[in-house]
Amino acid sequence: MPLLIVGGGIMGLWAAVKAERLGINALLVEAGRLGDGASGGLLGALMPHMPDRWSDKKQFQFDALVALEKEIAELEAETGLSAGYRRCGRIIPLPKPHLRSIAERHERDAGGNWVSGERQFHWHVGDSPSVAGWVDEAAGQAGFVLDTLAARVSPRAMIALLAAFLLKARHVRVAEQCSVLSLDPDGGRAVLSSGNEALFGHVVVANGPASFPLIRDALGLDAGVALGQAVKGQAALLDAAADPAMPVVFLNGLYIVPHEDGTVAIGSTSEDCFSDPCSTDEKLENLLAEAYRVVPSLARAPVLERWAGLRPKAVGRDPMVGSVADHPKLVALSGGFKVSFGIAHFLADAALQVVCGHTPVIPSGFRLQEHVSIASRTLESSD
Ligand SMILES: Cc1cc2nc3c(=O)[nH]c(=O)nc-3n(C[C@H](O)[C@H](O)[C@H](O)COP(=O)(O)OP(=O)(O)OC[C@H]3O[C@@H](n4cnc5c(N)ncnc54)[C@H](O)[C@@H]3O)c2cc1C
Repeated sequence: MPLLIVGGGIMGLWAAVKAERLGINALLVEAGRLGDGASGGLLGALMPHMPDRWSDKKQFQFDALVALEKEIAELEAETGLSAGYRRCGRIIPLPKPHLRSIAERHERDAGGNWVSGERQFHWHVGDSPSVAGWVDEAAGQAGFVLDTLAARVSPRAMIALLAAFLLKARHVRVAEQCSVLSLDPDGGRAVLSSGNEALFGHVVVANGPASFPLIRDALGLDAGVALGQAVKGQAALLDAAADPAMPVVFLNGLYIVPHEDGTVAIGSTSEDCFSDPCSTDEKLENLLAEAYRVVPSLARAPVLERWAGLRPKAVGRDPMVGSVADHPKLVALSGGFKVSFGIAHFLADAALQVVCGHTPVIPSGFRLQEHVSIASRTLESSD
């Protein structure tokens, strides 16, 4: 019986690519077009967590960020396409004096924790930005950090790269304009929007924010159980003719991401409450104004696109992967929230290990069971 993958965003596409590499027969169904969700956005920052207070979650993300470079290079060689990936590093201005001593502690933490075999990544602290003519010196009154682990990718080029690989797949088929309406994981059946049923051996549920109610209902949980929520984000793309080698800039939630084609993406708002998931408004304009202050050359750049999308935030705040004991055929692959592009390839590996009957080594907070327990406790305490 084939594997069914629900959702053609960054999560579902990596799952499909990994299924192809393992020779697993699979069908990926996407409600609209591939990349129609948040994965078809603009930003593509690949940001490490802070190097202090090291944990299995930080180690997982670090290993994923290091490995992504090679995984993308392999797909690029196989397809002849580019994902617009570059380990460009990240500049973090330090606007207040107390942030300098914290950053200097992080410099030492990175020395011990940001090591992969022979490779050492750094968190340098200095008095000026590491490159001239990019970030305004005034933005970092107490200095600047240069992190050499951060990278970026073009989200749309990444989706196109994964899709192109799947075009030549022997084991995986992709069906667009096809929604899964409901799942019976124990019977191995999915009801599709076409009115047909799809039979499956396992189902990987990777349909972004819509995965939370789909998984809840498939597991037979109370309708009040919220396994996660959608968090809106707005971003913009500037025609900046920027040097693509420039580092990403990060300051208080503002991301400035120079891309390979000279465009620069600016993001992102983070909105729990919203009426229209797709609209942009003055919150984005405020973000643009802040970006112009930090990188003044951007103020002259025409805005090519304003965009908004919904991030999948799981109830436990961590990614949501794997199955629960009573319904082993349903495998979650969701909840990447703000960091999906850096870890989706590793999470997809974990999901496929579950499909193959193995227990993946992932942080316990990532497990679907953990999220179900948190959501059930939350419901009980609100009753
Ligand atoms: C403004 C903004 C900026 C961001 N910046 C970054 C960043 O810099 N770095 C980073 O790593 N992440 C970033 N993110 C987060 C990232 O985009 C998301 O975490 C990621 O795209 C989620 O991927 P996904 O595959 O889980 O879900 P999605 O991309 O939402 O994909 C799910 C897919 O499932 C389909 N679908 C839905 N329901 C069904 C159904 N019933 N049947 C079939 N298909 C269905 C949808 O059409 C969609 O294509 C950002 C997000 C936003 C909004």
